[in-house]
Amino acid sequence: MIDFHSHLDLYPNPLNILHRVNEENRFTLTVTTSPKAWIATSQVFSGYKNIHVSLGLHPEIVNKKYKELDLLLTLIPETPFIGEVGIDGSPRYSQTLNKQTFIFEKIIYNCETAGGRIISIHSRKAESKILSILDKYPGCGKPVLHWFSGSMSDLQHAIELGCFFSINPIMAASKKGKEFISRIPPEKILPESDGPFASIQNKPIMPWEAIKIVPYLSKYWSVSPQTTKKILLENLHNILS
Ligand code: MN
Repeated sequence: MIDFHSHLDLYPNPLNILHRVNEENRFTLTVTTSPKAWIATSQVFSGYKNIHVSLGLHPEIVNKKYKELDLLLTLIPETPFIGEVGIDGSPRYSQTLNKQTFIFEKIIYNCETAGGRIISIHSRKAESKILSILDKYPGCGKPVLHWFSGSMSDLQHAIELGCFFSINPIMAASKKGKEFISRIPPEKILPESDGPFASIQNKPIMPWEAIKIVPYLSKYWSVSPQTTKKILLENLHNILS
């Protein structure tokens, strides 16, 4: 149905699954990890009308891709979708934390200047940093917090900012995920796979499996699976309009 955060280009044989992804999902957002990858992937995936490629610079690889920042900023006016961008505050990436923060703020500022973009955001262990930057640029567009795992007060802050949340089946099944989902307004939730990085029983979640969040949402919201799907499709319509 919908996969709002997928790394389609990083599956073992992406070309073999493109057709099925395009057929089964109404909308798949393929996030990229660098602007050069965005250029290449956009060419390969063109012609699949339900697959969209977003322009990114992944915070985990800023050391290698920092030089592509200017290229990314030049490309922002050309595309509606930005991601994967963000900040990772894990100890592993602490050496680049300042660089990551600088890059993220530049991107968000440029999204605002461009009139607003749909932005898929990585915020692991940097939730409050991310939210304080989003606070500064209210015209940046529609931020979508992907696999959000901050504190309850961060969650509240993000909800007040009007952020969307893309949620995958692993998150939906977890205790924290359940708590989050019960607080996030239903109209701000979208499915994601985060495949091939997210996997269940050692098998990467496929883009057509992001829909597996439906039974959980349906239970937490106390509505039927049909109604749940309807809400998710309305959310997709709203974020794209
Ligand atoms: Mn990702």
